[in-house]
Amino acid sequence: MNNDEVKTTLDEYVMHSYGRYDLVIDHAHGSIVYDKDGKEYIDCVAGIAVNNIGHTHEKMTENLSKQLTKLIHVSNLYYTEEQAIAAKRIVEASPHDKIFFANSGAEANEGAIKLARKYTGKGEIITAWNSFHGRTLATITATGQPKYQKGFQPLPAGFVHVDYNDIKQIEEAITDDTAAILIEPIQGESGVRVPDDDYLPTLRKICDEKGILLIFDEVQTGYGRTGKMFASELTGTVPDITTSAKAIAGGLPMGAVLANKEIAEVFQPGTHATTFGGTPLACCAANTVLDIYEEEDLVNKSHENGLYFKEKLEALKDTHDCIVDVRGHGLMIGVETNYECGDLVSKAQEKGLLINVANGTVIRFVPPLIITREELDKVVEIIDEILP
Ligand SMILES: *Cc1c(COP(=O)(O)O)cnc(C)c1O
Repeated sequence: MNNDEVKTTLDEYVMHSYGRYDLVIDHAHGSIVYDKDGKEYIDCVAGIAVNNIGHTHEKMTENLSKQLTKLIHVSNLYYTEEQAIAAKRIVEASPHDKIFFANSGAEANEGAIKLARKYTGKGEIITAWNSFHGRTLATITATGQPKYQKGFQPLPAGFVHVDYNDIKQIEEAITDDTAAILIEPIQGESGVRVPDDDYLPTLRKICDEKGILLIFDEVQTGYGRTGKMFASELTGTVPDITTSAKAIAGGLPMGAVLANKEIAEVFQPGTHATTFGGTPLACCAANTVLDIYEEEDLVNKSHENGLYFKEKLEALKDTHDCIVDVRGHGLMIGVETNYECGDLVSKAQEKGLLINVANGTVIRFVPPLIITREELDKVVEIIDEILP
């Protein structure tokens, strides 16, 4: 198929729930993706914060090739070595004791909500306005953005929203039926919103006092994205449950509910399940991701290159008055402008850079954690050229 055929075929046969950018990606390596004509793009979208180890990493290709000829899927009715290794390693990388393997971020959050309700015997989940937790019915209800709920009523009951970064509103929202607070340590989809340093530790204290569970949605912030393995480490706040997905298996679908032992124990045979969770293939990928993180020191790289990148982006303020804020941790950085800057996406693309714009006014950078300083320099150069 040529590019036009690819586009018209997709437009004809796939439901139009996505507004796609005008680009057919053909192949990719490292932080660079290529279209069919061989034009290069530096990838600062990374499949929406997924390709943290970069594209087509040699080690991933090699390990998955072997796994493909060995075992792909058997369901959770049986034991597999790949899942045993992945479970131990992912749990040990997290602040928790046990894992439930899911297939996406939304499914991980669904699992966390079910776990919290079953453990506490209570129904209400407090979440934040402008949050993003996924697109299933429960997770669009948890998501504090009415535009994602429109037309899908009736929604599941038991979700209460408060302003992000506002302790008083949390205190007022708590009732005798509150099971948990579900919160992103840094809000991603709504434009890389970083809360005050004491916000998450204070939530922890409130949850302890009131016997409420604290759930961190680290689907986007986890896996080194913010310069720590999990963003909870940025403030030393240990949640009761963490959800993970996006980068966890290097691009294969995987999600995870991570929880402390006592809570995890309420999931017994028959309480929760998923056919594809933790397949040997996805677990092989997840194990390879962790190998690469260790060998290439990716969490520290995210921290150090993140500081480097952020400083360079901040320097653009001197010559571009439209920049009102540069924020984030590690390689999760938002540049807020004072206008609806969606047109920057195609301008960047023309110059060989993939970015996306969150919440209308925020350029969001979530590149692979393997991105080099030379590539980051080039990104800043292009942003400098296209910003008004
Ligand atoms: C992407 C995202 C989700 C949803 O993940 P899916 O894999 O698309 O279901 C949930 N929470 C956060 C914070 C996310 O960034």
